[in-house]
Amino acid sequence: MTEIPFLRPNLVSKDDYLDLLAEIDASRIYSNYGPMNDRFEQRLTAELFDGTGRLTTVNNATTGLILAISRCKRPGGKYALMPSFTFPAAPLAALWCGLEPYFIDIRQGDWCMDETKLEEAVTLLAGQAAVIVPYAAFGTCMDLSAYSRWLKSGIPVVVDAAASIGSSGRHGQFGKGFEGAVIYSFHATKTFGIGEGGLVYSADEELIADIRRASNFGFSDARESAMQGMNGKLPEYAAAVGLATLARFNGKIAERQRVSGLYLKQLSKHGLMKRGWRMQKVSGRIAPSFLPVLCPENQQNTVYLKGLADLGVQARSYFHPACHEQLMFRHCPSGTLETTEQISGRILSLPLWEEMKTEHVERIVQEVDRFERACYLGMRGSSEGGS
Ligand SMILES: *Cc1c(COP(=O)(O)O)cnc(C)c1O
Repeated sequence: MTEIPFLRPNLVSKDDYLDLLAEIDASRIYSNYGPMNDRFEQRLTAELFDGTGRLTTVNNATTGLILAISRCKRPGGKYALMPSFTFPAAPLAALWCGLEPYFIDIRQGDWCMDETKLEEAVTLLAGQAAVIVPYAAFGTCMDLSAYSRWLKSGIPVVVDAAASIGSSGRHGQFGKGFEGAVIYSFHATKTFGIGEGGLVYSADEELIADIRRASNFGFSDARESAMQGMNGKLPEYAAAVGLATLARFNGKIAERQRVSGLYLKQLSKHGLMKRGWRMQKVSGRIAPSFLPVLCPENQQNTVYLKGLADLGVQARSYFHPACHEQLMFRHCPSGTLETTEQISGRILSLPLWEEMKTEHVERIVQEVDRFERACYLGMRGSSEGGS
């Protein structure tokens, strides 16, 4: 039985960017916002953001989060308010900026931060909220209007949109037009994978100019370090891979949506939705990195992870354990986290990659179905009802 891997990154191949590498050889410029990076940024601005706002590349999204939080955070503030149901990059970035993560519960349904609970925490913490860091869970086009209001009221907002390049709502690319900072990742495992890389976008052009300086040692025009900067720059080689990826991006999105469509069909064909399995409620068109799904309420994702691995299906459980359950963040303050704990105990991330065929998805869903019947429903035998 062949193993089905969780991910099978499919980055552009060398033939797609050999010409660009030759240009780099000829230019003798390898970093420091060179011509390849300039071209990549210009095309991202034009093609993803319709020419509105401004953006700056970074060497990964975690660097982008650190730089944005560091430049935005409210002086005298102590806490970075964020969901616990996220990747540890966000609370780690807060710690690097001298802030303490303060975890807020998520909503049932779209698995994004619960804004009612966030509002309560903002009130409770009074002036101590330094920044709010929402996460657009798994690339969903979450509604940012409440965050725009917090921004206007003086609380900075940095959106972790690591998985959101290619996600678009009514107004186009998710994040477009937002006045806070929005951070995207180009990690190899993301839909727009180039290896390592990231992007910081904002409709506030001065904010981006400031973050860009911080990403280059905080240098002023006189090359004097004038702020707490670092080296967050993207190499020219990575920008070349990025340009080649842009040319193929719509095809990649279409492949991923094809596979997620296959899952929907198979999940309902096997009656899983009727038995209490749940998909994320997403808004907009998303370009999924994998397929997140919840097992029924009285079941445990860890049981499936082990069971599926034995059957040759490599699954994951993003985000289990949730951040507040991880060693580094156990001491961090939080509101109640009931929904987070419930969802993180049920979430399964199923394989999704561009070359997946109908047979792959059929087999995965069939194994999930069989495993549930055998392990939880007390039925052995075929998926057609057992014997
Ligand atoms: C991938 C990811 C990151 C980290 O991105 P890098 O580019 O690898 O630093 C941060 N947050 C979330 C939610 C992610 O999925």
